Amino acid sequence: MGRNVIYIVVPCYNESEGLKQSCEKLEIKMNELIKTKKMISKKSKVMLVNDGSKDDTGKIITEICENNSLFSGLLLSKNVGHQNAILAGMMTSKDYADAVITIDADLQQDINALDNFIEKFQDGNEIVYGIRNDRSTDGVFKKMTATLYYKLLSFLGVDIIPNHADYRLMSKKALEALGEFKEVNLFLRGLIHLIGFQSDTVYFDVKEREFGKSKYTLSKMLTLATDGITSLSIKPIRIIMIIGVVMFLLSIIMIGISIIDWFKGVNVAGYTTSLISIWLVGGITILSLGIIGEYIGRIYMETKHRPRYIIESFIWKDENKR
Ligand code: UDP
Ligand code: MG
Repeated sequence: MGRNVIYIVVPCYNESEGLKQSCEKLEIKMNELIKTKKMISKKSKVMLVNDGSKDDTGKIITEICENNSLFSGLLLSKNVGHQNAILAGMMTSKDYADAVITIDADLQQDINALDNFIEKFQDGNEIVYGIRNDRSTDGVFKKMTATLYYKLLSFLGVDIIPNHADYRLMSKKALEALGEFKEVNLFLRGLIHLIGFQSDTVYFDVKEREFGKSKYTLSKMLTLATDGITSLSIKPIRIIMIIGVVMFLLSIIMIGISIIDWFKGVNVAGYTTSLISIWLVGGITILSLGIIGEYIGRIYMETKHRPRYIIESFIWKDENKR
């Protein structure tokens, strides 16, 4: 029949506190989809990706996969971050699956939406985007920064679906296309849009994290945010140039004013103006260098073509032994 082997890719970083619990829920859901609803093939699996966790996550994943062939495990050699961990899972599972769905290990995203993803895939869509209904479970800070960030992205000309994170389905075909994008600085939610293909959306609710803390530290979030901008837009550099032109025009006016003042003999005044200009121009210069530096740093990383993840081991068992 085709289009019925579905892999669920779950990135796990220090998730030992609740991983078993999440896997139990996923098992129930998968059994419902496989046996009760007969929507997907029994060859479907959940792929747990250990993103170089420092706790027992790797051990737990190995144990789960040894005992239950519904689960397969992909253990990465070190922590490469959420985006790369998802990529590793997707690129590995695309060889076995007709489509892959990514979901977080804390199952904050509603797993009952999986049915809708699969239905839309079986209707012929190659990519199905999950979109959260609201941001009520986010803190005020996250809600505000996220909204501002999406506004900034659209100001910079980035075509992005608001409130879509990394709960999505991609078909084998779409994943093969994604594999052609070799960039090291990954911002999947912006990139996948560039692939094209017929796509659709699914709305879902987001719950509070039931166990452990968020694994997205502030620095990981900032890296993701800058990756998002630098990998999808060069407008910041253009804005610097515009600021440069404006500053240049202003300086011509300032020169004119100074010369007039000199003729009038009022040259000593203007302490405040001088001070402000020094700080303003200095500030803008350093900021501009910083922005350009961000791009150069990323170009540097891209030119090295380093692997985005390294697989330490892969645990996969035949479904017949389940
Ligand atoms: N994660 C990962 N590598 C990292 C950080 C996070 O694989 O370096 C995983 C994490 O285990 C979880 C998902 O990414 O499955 C989302 O993380 P989290 O739920 O902590 O983020 P939040 O929901 O707070 O944005
Ligand atoms: Mg979460």
